[in-house]
Amino acid sequence: MLQLKSVTKVYPGNTKAVNDVTVTIPNGEFCVLLGPSGAGKSTLMGLINGLVLPTSGSVVLNDEQVDARNQKKVQQRISMIHQQLHLIPRLSMLHNVLSGKLYALPLWRVLAKHFPENDQRRACQLLAEVGLDESQLHRRVSALSGGQQQRVAIARAFMAHPEIVLADEPVASLDPTVSRSVLASLRHTSKQNNTTVVCSLHQVDYALEFADRIIAMREGKIVFDGPPQRVSESELVNIYGSSDDDKSTAIKPVPQIEREVALA
Ligand code: ADP
Ligand code: MG
Repeated sequence: MLQLKSVTKVYPGNTKAVNDVTVTIPNGEFCVLLGPSGAGKSTLMGLINGLVLPTSGSVVLNDEQVDARNQKKVQQRISMIHQQLHLIPRLSMLHNVLSGKLYALPLWRVLAKHFPENDQRRACQLLAEVGLDESQLHRRVSALSGGQQQRVAIARAFMAHPEIVLADEPVASLDPTVSRSVLASLRHTSKQNNTTVVCSLHQVDYALEFADRIIAMREGKIVFDGPPQRVSESELVNIYGSSDDDKSTAIKPVPQIEREVALA
């Protein structure tokens, strides 16, 4: 269980990026952090994995408070999928996924690309879970499409059995069809491994489609917290302001929510 208790982060220059946020996320939940650019989503993720320490309040991960002394350790228990995937282009899909366990392995094994058999089995299983074909295990990541690379990054994030996977705008640079199937893979892998996922998005329709729970932020505060079924049009205005506020975000309430999307 992850608990944020009255967490505030003020950056130098007096920007209150996260403002008195209290939230509890139970294990295994697929939680979407929704909000326009500048709402505080990335800062909240940084607070969860200890990269950012709160100005006030506390973050507690499975009964352990995240602070300056244990932040490195906490980072090993939490995986992060970045928008710029940080894959190693010249290495194969399989080796990129195995690299998700680097910190836990002795250096000689990494240099010799000698990974324990059970790790290799897990990597193959994860690649199957994200919908990548076994026959491609040894393809270089540089030869893959953007959507395939994103799936490799997802598989890598789950490799070390993290307590939480954080995904910061994981589909920002993908087209809608690929975005949907990547989010379906992320959700599927989260459920298969019973791993909590906190995924930030700025697209309302994806949040409605994939989340167990939507936590919407605006100007550092939580303005909605609940299941997608409870998001109404007035709620969306509350999240994004009037339609003049953020012209880049199309606000289209989805009439029927299809929660479980079959893997492509
Ligand atoms: P989001 O991810 O929702 O776009 P961020 O958490 O990146 O939001 O930013 C929230 C606010 O904090 C913004 O006003 C941003 O400019 C500010 N901010 C983010 N990071 C820093 C930083 N390192 N130093 C100063 N201000 C920052
Ligand atoms: Mg961000």
